[in-house]
Amino acid sequence: MGAAVKRVEIQAQQRLRTLMRDYFLDLDAAARDPQRRVAWCTSVGPCEILAAFGFATYFPENHGALLGAKKVSHQYIPLAVSAGYCAESCSYMNSDIGAAIGGYSPLQEAYGIAGPPKPDLLAYNTNQCREVQDWFEFFGRRHNAPVFGICPPRQLGEVTPAHVAFVRGELERLIHQIEGRFGLSLDRRRLEEVVALSSRASTLWREALETARARPAPIVFWDGLIQMAPVILMRGSRLAVEYYETLLAEMKQRVHDGIGAVPGEQYRIYWEGMPVWPRVRDLSEKCLELRAAVVASTYCNSWAFEEYAGGDPLEWMARTSTEIFINRAESFKEPFLLDMFERFAIDGAVFHNARTCPNNTNSRFGLAQRLREQHNAAVLVIDGDLSDQRFFSTAQTMTNLEAFIEQLETRRRSGNARRPAAQGAGR
Ligand code: SF4
Repeated sequence: MGAAVKRVEIQAQQRLRTLMRDYFLDLDAAARDPQRRVAWCTSVGPCEILAAFGFATYFPENHGALLGAKKVSHQYIPLAVSAGYCAESCSYMNSDIGAAIGGYSPLQEAYGIAGPPKPDLLAYNTNQCREVQDWFEFFGRRHNAPVFGICPPRQLGEVTPAHVAFVRGELERLIHQIEGRFGLSLDRRRLEEVVALSSRASTLWREALETARARPAPIVFWDGLIQMAPVILMRGSRLAVEYYETLLAEMKQRVHDGIGAVPGEQYRIYWEGMPVWPRVRDLSEKCLELRAAVVASTYCNSWAFEEYAGGDPLEWMARTSTEIFINRAESFKEPFLLDMFERFAIDGAVFHNARTCPNNTNSRFGLAQRLREQHNAAVLVIDGDLSDQRFFSTAQTMTNLEAFIEQLETRRRSGNARRPAAQGAGR
């Protein structure tokens, strides 16, 4: 391909580095302060309840992703395997457990702290998978801390009021468990405030992602993997809201100025499934070279919830955490993806078959094939993993990506491409 393509760095990134440092240093301080408490939480909640109780909240999945991005997961997974965990179970979980056994954390080099904060409580939601429950139980035993969780109905086509009512009941049960265990009383007004802030950050995040409907897209998947940190780690805080206000303003300015995340954008790609953390840089550079902008993804949208319009905060939490894409049947996922393809004018979709995460992989039950055959979508399925690089062949994947882009070009020339929707940011 032609000369090396240079990207323009997102300016908000500077602020993000400070935010992340402050977040981890505060967690470390909270774990050492007898007046404060730390809770570990799964990425899609129930962090709002924990924040309203005053816990400093830590997210082990983020640590799993950091281990993957550091390219060290495969060194620590064997330690989890020797503790009885299957080598083909979630590589976030295995590498996190293995790193704890081995006494390593990327937080040591990044922030000068020993590692994840010691938990007073671990709270999970199995809306994404059962693995999180077993993962948290390991650390509950290790730290002699209580493990509480909610288990919503899974793989839903339609989410009914009965489903939401059930999950709401689970959240109430969790609140009572925490109150009983720690002698606390939940301030329901504070919960409303936290949910409103959480929802606001999530809405701003969605709006920032939606700016990628413009051509050229001002933000792509690879940026999103970094930019999504506050909506997971700091959801429910003003800091997250302020950060996304800044990011959204910058993305709108980019759209106005015609600045694309991929200079000379030619092809618009949808990424389905988990990232390949150890190879994010390689993949983003290959896409840059191919002038392929990954303009939308299921993954980054996982924290783009519907806005809270006041009322019962627990009902909002129950509904949003049950409605998430990963928790839905393919009868929901198929039209959802087709709608995304239309709205973001997608030329082709890459489905990542993540070996150790069947839960967030959607190429195993015919969906990719149906999109190709019944909807004339161009779909490439790549084999890999979110963290364990032993399951990913860089050379093979790069060759497949190049061939896929050639296929998109051929389809375009022959007039056989799916018709993209009208351009422009915003819905
Ligand atoms: S959804 Fe997948 S990657 Fe995330 S915790 Fe569950 S098994 Fe692991």
